Amino acid sequence: MTVWDMHCDMCGRLVPAPSGAAGGPLAGVRFVYHPGSPSMRDDSGLACRSCWTEAAPAARMDPGHCAVCAAPVTRVSSLHVRPFDSPDATWQLCEPHAVEFLNRLRTVQPKFDPVGFRLPLHTEDAPSQDRQNGPGENEG
Ligand SMILES: [Zn+2]
Ligand SMILES: [Zn+2]
Repeated sequence: MTVWDMHCDMCGRLVPAPSGAAGGPLAGVRFVYHPGSPSMRDDSGLACRSCWTEAAPAARMDPGHCAVCAAPVTRVSSLHVRPFDSPDATWQLCEPHAVEFLNRLRTVQPKFDPVGFRLPLHTEDAPSQDRQNGPGENEG
């Protein structure tokens, strides 16, 4: 049995689970997002209906264009968002709209700086690569 955080990723309200029998409609929307790279996919998104509706006012599915402002985007220069159970309903979001979306999510920490935000995201986990004057580093 899986228990996951049943709070809206945006407003933090508890999203009521279907009562009793499985298969009842969830009072929220589970969603999946990734920045054009399946390895960075996060499929644990959950939003209550009102936040989801608000986050996607007029989002249109338009491959190659931002779902909000229709700016041309490429696969890796956009954020891909879709409801968990609707593989065909993917939106692509341009950088400004991607950062706006991501920064609404409580699970996204730290928040992105809209000014410096660029897609594709760089995912190096390497800690700061300070150049230190180490003892002679020889290549090879
Ligand atoms: Zn909410
Ligand atoms: Zn846009």
